[in-house]
Amino acid sequence: MINILVVIGVLGLSTQAFIGLSFFISCIWEKEKRATAVALLQFIGMVVVLAVFIAIALAGTFHTPIGKAVLIIGYAGVIAAAVLLLKRSRPNPRALEGTKGLIIGKVGRHDERKIVFARNRSLRPGSEQFEIFYKVHPEYREYDEKRRAMGGPLGHIGTVDNPNADINNAMIFASLNIPVYLGDPLKICPERHPALKEKLGSKKIQITPMEASKRIKGYAKRLGASLVGIAELNPLWVYSKRGEIFRENWEDWGRQINIDHKYVIMFAEEMDFDLVGTAPHTPTSIESMYNYAKGAFISSQLASFIANLGYSASANHLRHYDGLMVPMAVDAGLGELSRMGYLLTKELGPRVRLSAVTTDLTLIPDKPVDIGAKYFCEVCKKCAVCCPSNSIPDGDPEEINGSMRWKLNDETCFEYWGKVGTDCNRCMMVCPWSHARTFPHRLIVFLITRNKLAGKIFAYMDDLFYGRQPKPKKGPDWASYK
Ligand code: SF4
Ligand code: SF4
Repeated sequence: MINILVVIGVLGLSTQAFIGLSFFISCIWEKEKRATAVALLQFIGMVVVLAVFIAIALAGTFHTPIGKAVLIIGYAGVIAAAVLLLKRSRPNPRALEGTKGLIIGKVGRHDERKIVFARNRSLRPGSEQFEIFYKVHPEYREYDEKRRAMGGPLGHIGTVDNPNADINNAMIFASLNIPVYLGDPLKICPERHPALKEKLGSKKIQITPMEASKRIKGYAKRLGASLVGIAELNPLWVYSKRGEIFRENWEDWGRQINIDHKYVIMFAEEMDFDLVGTAPHTPTSIESMYNYAKGAFISSQLASFIANLGYSASANHLRHYDGLMVPMAVDAGLGELSRMGYLLTKELGPRVRLSAVTTDLTLIPDKPVDIGAKYFCEVCKKCAVCCPSNSIPDGDPEEINGSMRWKLNDETCFEYWGKVGTDCNRCMMVCPWSHARTFPHRLIVFLITRNKLAGKIFAYMDDLFYGRQPKPKKGPDWASYK
């Protein structure tokens, strides 16, 4: 019996050392100096424990009364720890309801004209809309003027990477061209195209909801989406009035947005680990804009596919949003809302960009998920600590517009973008869920998504290995910012 326990012990400690080694290799691959050093020490410690265990076993100590007692107590401790860390915690019922689980009061629809991006991109000093807006909302005027004087958020003269930013900025603006091109109203709502209307008339291809959902998800993934989910569209997350103007369509500004689509197909595209790792430098914005371009590419083709079936569909991407992407993604089961206000996905953490297609084609909605994000965010707070503009709250969730959640201060965040000339992404970079999904990180995600205690432990471990305030990394040579 003791011999069997010793063999199991050797196997268990060897497995632990193997995981330690894989974590060490993962840290080298992640180009994380501090984590590599700590992981090496950890691995050496595990090998020493294994060696000592084998030496004690060979000396026959486990066959003495004291040795037996130590072995049995050790096993009891290991089994208790395994049960504590592996058992599935009670689910968070609010997370399983999606955004409905967060609502505790009256939710007002958002007016897109008030969104900081719309104010920055669409309101032009001297225009009629500019005067109308600040007459109704004088609270934004001084702040917006100050920010405009800095020159806008991307690629302006004050960028953090000057004097070496020009080449990276040229890439950033190259990607931005794609959503502008695909922002053409007939590409956003392809069923409106006269040629298609004439061809299809009132003809609709008959397809079951299950078949349609399967085809759409498969096609979206083939087009480049990393994650795809479907939700019934909650009208609360649709903007009340249009505020973003890109194609001189000023008659749309302030127009009521009414969508009669019942479903939204949400998709997330993975952002490159190395490029995000450079945040807040320009390579991270190359990656953001590339993914906005990709989102426009995927959503336009998906909308066109649905229009070709004879149904109504509308692409939502950087140059046309009908509503708020994050709550729709939560309802579509792509992830949970995080402290930083971004979507936190199990597969990629917050390291994603979101786009969508709304449609009247009947689909099968997915269910919201509980991945333990709320409990993890409660203890972690790393994004709040690292945010250079203190835009992320470090307290408990609060009631914001009828929902219980954390609220990123988008005004101060955007102001910081103006200062550095990039879209920052520092919060995304430091988030423990953003690590590349190497074998040991997959194992950690498996544990933290099923067990609250594991979430707490790994939130602290992340600080130990990667530091409380990780530094920006160098990034690939082709996107050098130094
Ligand atoms: S993008 Fe930067 S400034 Fe904005 S919330 Fe994240 S860390 Fe803060
Ligand atoms: S950094 Fe931590 S607190 Fe912030 S979103 Fe990520 S897990 Fe949550």
